[in-house]
Amino acid sequence: MIRWLVGIAALLSTLAAAALSTDTTAPDTPEPGSIEAIAKATGDPRFLSPWVSYLPQAHGVPSPLAFFGRIPGTPGEFVDTAKAHAYCRALAAASPRVRVFSIGRSEEGRDILMLTVADEAGIRDLDRLKAATASLADPRTLSAAPAEALIATSRPIYYFNAGLHADETGSAEAVLELAYRLAVSDQPNIRHIRKQLIVLINPVSNPDGRDKMVEWFYRYLKGKTNRATLPRQSPPYWSKYAFVDINRDTHQQTHETTKAVHRMFHEWHPTVVHDLHEGSPLMMTWNGTGPYNPNIDPITYTEFLELSFHEVQTMTAFGMPGVSTWNFGEAFSHLYLDSVAMNHNSIGRGYETLGNGTAETLHYSLRPSQTSMEWYRPTPPPAEFDWSERDNLNYTETGALAALDFAARNSKEMLRNFYKKGWDSWRKGLDEPPYAYLIPEDQGDRKRVADMVGRLLEQRIEVARAQNSITLKEGNFPAGTYVIRLDQPYRNYAVDLLSPQVFPKDKGEPYDDVSWEFPANFHLAAIPTADASIRSAALTPLKETPRPAGAVSGEGPVFLLKDTGQESLFAARYRLAAFDVEIAEHPFKVGGVDFPAGSWFLPARDGLAGAIHSVATELGLDFVSTSASPVVSHHAASVPRIGVWVPWADTDSIGWIRYILDQHRVPYTYVRDEDIRAGNLRDHLDVLLYGHVDLELAEQIEGLPKRWSPMPFKKTPQTPSFGTPAESDDITGGIGYAGLVEIQRFVDNSGLLVTLGSGSMLALNGGIVRGVRSVAGGVPRSIAGGGSASATAAQNSATRTPGAHVRVTFARPDHPIAYGYPAHTYVFRQNYPLYSAPRAWLRMAYCTTCLDGPEDRSGIVLEWGDSAGAPFVISGQAWGEENLLRRPAILDMPVGRGHVVSFNFNPFHRDMNRGDHRLVWNAILNWQAILSAPAPSPISTSSELDQSDP
Ligand SMILES: [Zn+2]
Repeated sequence: MIRWLVGIAALLSTLAAAALSTDTTAPDTPEPGSIEAIAKATGDPRFLSPWVSYLPQAHGVPSPLAFFGRIPGTPGEFVDTAKAHAYCRALAAASPRVRVFSIGRSEEGRDILMLTVADEAGIRDLDRLKAATASLADPRTLSAAPAEALIATSRPIYYFNAGLHADETGSAEAVLELAYRLAVSDQPNIRHIRKQLIVLINPVSNPDGRDKMVEWFYRYLKGKTNRATLPRQSPPYWSKYAFVDINRDTHQQTHETTKAVHRMFHEWHPTVVHDLHEGSPLMMTWNGTGPYNPNIDPITYTEFLELSFHEVQTMTAFGMPGVSTWNFGEAFSHLYLDSVAMNHNSIGRGYETLGNGTAETLHYSLRPSQTSMEWYRPTPPPAEFDWSERDNLNYTETGALAALDFAARNSKEMLRNFYKKGWDSWRKGLDEPPYAYLIPEDQGDRKRVADMVGRLLEQRIEVARAQNSITLKEGNFPAGTYVIRLDQPYRNYAVDLLSPQVFPKDKGEPYDDVSWEFPANFHLAAIPTADASIRSAALTPLKETPRPAGAVSGEGPVFLLKDTGQESLFAARYRLAAFDVEIAEHPFKVGGVDFPAGSWFLPARDGLAGAIHSVATELGLDFVSTSASPVVSHHAASVPRIGVWVPWADTDSIGWIRYILDQHRVPYTYVRDEDIRAGNLRDHLDVLLYGHVDLELAEQIEGLPKRWSPMPFKKTPQTPSFGTPAESDDITGGIGYAGLVEIQRFVDNSGLLVTLGSGSMLALNGGIVRGVRSVAGGVPRSIAGGGSASATAAQNSATRTPGAHVRVTFARPDHPIAYGYPAHTYVFRQNYPLYSAPRAWLRMAYCTTCLDGPEDRSGIVLEWGDSAGAPFVISGQAWGEENLLRRPAILDMPVGRGHVVSFNFNPFHRDMNRGDHRLVWNAILNWQAILSAPAPSPISTSSELDQSDP
């Protein structure tokens, strides 16, 4: 109570000081009780600004206090999606300054709502104002003078996105209060914001995750305030597929949350897309340390620095400690939700406020490095403090108001910059090479080419098709070639997506991937041209993603499919599950046509022709029919029963595998930890796929700590959103060592275990596969990245490929995993442990003669580096790569009567590296051949002793 009174006194003096310093009188009448409730919910009075220290009273418009019966950010309570949306609708119904729109629907069927707030005139003129920003976005049809006239009568649109990462819980309530305040306050700065801007607010951008998190809080966290003994603070899923990756798919737009924001963007053309996150004490406003991406207009970088500094300045002036900028991430990659703006000539930005991951108040002790005074953090946070949900809200909402205040004061300049960036991008495509990219259709997989083109179209990058053949100085391109002329407003993004990334080698650790270009991800060529005559080529603009149908030719009951690396071979096998498929192990010739190893033939069967026609049409595959099966060594490719093991401790990366299998409509069994423990895996599975996980080996086995047990994730009346996409009576305990035994037993009983990324630690370090040594110098993904400007010395000296496309060579080009690939190719690699070539055994005691067995490279299917000496990096960057060359990238090791295929990379990274998928599809389709292959004779029996006798 005493602390509370002191707080009020300090607050009132702060209010007075702020009123003087910012010349804002307070014409609002505070809603009775709101000042006291907010002060009470705020811990340290310095964690409050005068702007958010009360709720303005408004007659006829429901305040959050009136609607929810409490102020937003009240410790111990969370609002769920339904209540948040009910408030949005009530606000829109009561205020002529607010409208509500539905901008999408989540995977689980929840509405994604967006509020629009402006003065009455702005709301009345929404259609005209949207048309104005759409016009400004395309300078080809708007020259400078009319643009200036349009700017004079239009407004910037500022979009806030809340609650995307579900355990970052504060922003949803912060923006509901913000919406109310913007709608009803008579503060001069807020009246100005209403008059100058259109504010868009998406309070629950990930409603599936929000509801799971709110229920999780009430089920497991309510009333618990000791950070040392808190149980896990997040449900295992935030959406149907993804966890933290839900904000990392801007280039590919897989999640409904992302699609909704992209649709909103291209309808409204907001000048700013502002995503609200939690992660840094007390508030970090993003702009990145550099290196910056060179394909973003430089105006953007100055704009987002300016906005960030304005927020730091405003909040620091209010006496709020711990507001900082700059030292978070590098802003080289723009692959996040807000990046839709960065990549389309607007400004993408975000906050990291301090979030508790619970509605309860927690105590914090910060490290000295977090509390030093720095140029980017002029008032550091205190070393020790209590932090409440309301404190988090105070920072988020005050920052948002500062940003809006800046935008309102600089509204014309922001619009002018937006227009100028579109102009710059378009003029670059006219004035400097490359003038276009050409994507030939015939690259072995017409469907994959079409899918890549489709992704460009979804980004509103204009793509056309050549009506006739085109001759340029780079070569001849047939009719039908896809052409991306670069004299278009999103030229910069097209270049970013179609050309290799070059992350500077002398800079610190990147926050995320350093390569995302589509051609490397899809294993396709996109050829830039410096020949301006491309502008006179006759082109037909594409309106939608092309759907190339395959052809079926020839006469005869046997069907052949030439393997040219098509990704859809995998789906085709499951569509043709009722028929036999034989896979050729060597090249053969039929009717003068060469068929490489990996090509299919399907012996005559009733109904086969009809099934083939439907598969050809759907999947863009070409079949040839002939009179008899070719004479070539071959093996059967019977349809395997796939299991995908998803540990409860980390569902994120494997969610992408589930997404991809669902896209292909390929059936699989979702295998939970308890299913592994239950055993008898071989009875219902042929192939067990274990994807990348961001877990140490012990966590992969032991899972979530048993001390939290039991932790059900099931639908109950209190937790109706639990239990999807899978349910559990207890998500703790992992597979345990009993489960590890069951996996071993599965392999021993002629099972094929495929492990990806750090999931391979389970096989190689966990002892299922013997003889493979971890090598010093690799880094597990979990300790790399993190985005601070200063990477540690240990990291700097380690071998790192933080999301880069790098070269590999097939050590066994005859192995089924190589089907459809050239012997020299490349894959996408993040940071993973390094492994040595297998040895017959590893040294098991320290004695001068107890040495490693001879090296046996026969298990290496694919090795790192190009054996012909081409540069290691295709796109991105690598450090210490000399320590990676010739080491195994894919191992195929016999174990008992089964095999373990281990990838030292993740071929299913966020549905980006589509060209890597076939490597896994090959392992699955050829599972029986891999299991029954005779042990290859050792390729090398180096007697290197690898001895370190001191
Ligand atoms: Zn976040």
